[in-house]
Amino acid sequence: MTHLTATELHTLTNELNRRRQDLIAMIQTGANDASHDNLRQITGEVRDLGDESAALQQTDLNFAEMENETRELRAVDRALERMKEGVYGFCSECGGKIPYARLKAYPTAERCTDCQTRYEALHGEKDGTPSL
Ligand SMILES: [Zn+2]
Repeated sequence: MTHLTATELHTLTNELNRRRQDLIAMIQTGANDASHDNLRQITGEVRDLGDESAALQQTDLNFAEMENETRELRAVDRALERMKEGVYGFCSECGGKIPYARLKAYPTAERCTDCQTRYEALHGEKDGTPSL
């Protein structure tokens, strides 16, 4: 099914699983921090407007980070799912092989370099898996 060797697949599976653990830990830490900030505001520990906006900015930052981490976690889950289905390492657009070097750098890559470049041009944004 896959164009990758057993060793390459093994390396990438380990990498994805390790990344998954890291992300879950980061999201949990972020969630704790965010609820701590909210608690501080509720308990009136924040006294003046300057402090309050700083606290809000910090909360926004936590949420933005958590959003990125959640998005990456979903990409990791999708990659692991594709491994189970035996379609991992193939471009989701053209079905072409994604080179091992690219997968090694970005184990969650869903597209080959050409399709990724086209996707970014079309959507005007990156989805976290750079085309290079
Ligand atoms: Zn492609």
